[in-house]
Amino acid sequence: MSRFLLAPLALSIVIAGCGEGTKQTGQSEGTPAGSAIHASSNVVPGSYEDWCEEHHVPESACTRCDPALIPAFKATKDWCEEHGLPESQCLDCNPDLKIVRPPKPEGK
Ligand SMILES: [Zn+2]
Ligand SMILES: [Zn+2]
Repeated sequence: MSRFLLAPLALSIVIAGCGEGTKQTGQSEGTPAGSAIHASSNVVPGSYEDWCEEHHVPESACTRCDPALIPAFKATKDWCEEHGLPESQCLDCNPDLKIVRPPKPEGK
């Protein structure tokens, strides 16, 4: 169900990020092309576009979309073994945690 709710959101992101194109750089192997929920690989980390609509974390730090990021989190001890998430993204361990999306740049 939630997939359908997210669809319009994802669509608006695609529109907002116009000009980025759809070409994949091939960094994320196994990711099906056209997964519009997720930011493209050429967004600036920390920017508005750098956001995983599915997991509500920055796309550049979304270990669920890109498991290749996991070792980096583990290396900085930012890792919750129990939930398989970066501790800084683990809402189960940190119920008060709020990960907010960077504001949309204006006048663009
Ligand atoms: Zn994700
Ligand atoms: Zn946890």
